[in-house]
Amino acid sequence: LVRFSHVQKSYDGQSLVVKDLNLDIARGEFLTLLGPSGSGKTTSLMMLAGFEAPTNGRITLQGREITALPPYKRGIGMVFQNYALFPHMTVSDNVAYPLRARKMPETEIAQRVTAALDMVKLGPFGARMPAQLSGGQQQRVALARALVFEPELILLDEPLGALDKQLRERMQYELKQIHERLGVTMVYVTHDQEEALTMSDRIAVFDQGRIQQLAPPEELYESPANAFVAGFIGENN
Ligand code: ATP
Repeated sequence: LVRFSHVQKSYDGQSLVVKDLNLDIARGEFLTLLGPSGSGKTTSLMMLAGFEAPTNGRITLQGREITALPPYKRGIGMVFQNYALFPHMTVSDNVAYPLRARKMPETEIAQRVTAALDMVKLGPFGARMPAQLSGGQQQRVALARALVFEPELILLDEPLGALDKQLRERMQYELKQIHERLGVTMVYVTHDQEEALTMSDRIAVFDQGRIQQLAPPEELYESPANAFVAGFIGENN
């Protein structure tokens, strides 16, 4: 579905923070970018979303080059750690926003918003304002807003990072269920090994701007490619 070919990134002519990234993302998979702070995960995700431009290399989506396409033309759903909800809009209006931006008829918008809120178990909360919701509920709204236009690809940047452990585990489970039910491709950024190991079909372990290993969780655990992967995956376990 997605291909990064020889993608590099440096900010303002500084040293490369992403060095020759080559990565194929399969349709329907749950792929996690895992690594320590500063290893280039978020920068890689932002280049796929279109919020950062690669310094070199190309990115294709369904075979179409998107390297120079602005974010709103890529048809990709995004969920950020800080939710990024519009505080002055109700939950329903937040979720409807991407559809109104696409000038969809209001009757269809209403149906889709209801379906998306049901999907994240927020059916009765449409009329509330974001400030009247808990952190976990706000993150569900952000997820509904990413799902509502039925994108083929959803990018999630540390979406559960602000939640306490118990809620995080429940949301991990629900996210996986949504992933399986919709068959949508998800690319997930985290620095939490346990989260990556429980949720992912494959994990790309980043360090110093490079993928050190790309493999399913069991394989990373059982045959790490190098000392960095062994040490990083072994932490907290
Ligand atoms: P984290 O989990 O802390 O976000 P990360 O693995 O996602 O880490 P990036 O955020 O991609 O890493 O950052 C990689 C490097 O690029 C870091 O050294 C960071 O300081 C630098 N960097 C990130 N964004 C910018 C920016 N907008 N301008 C300049 N440098 C940046």
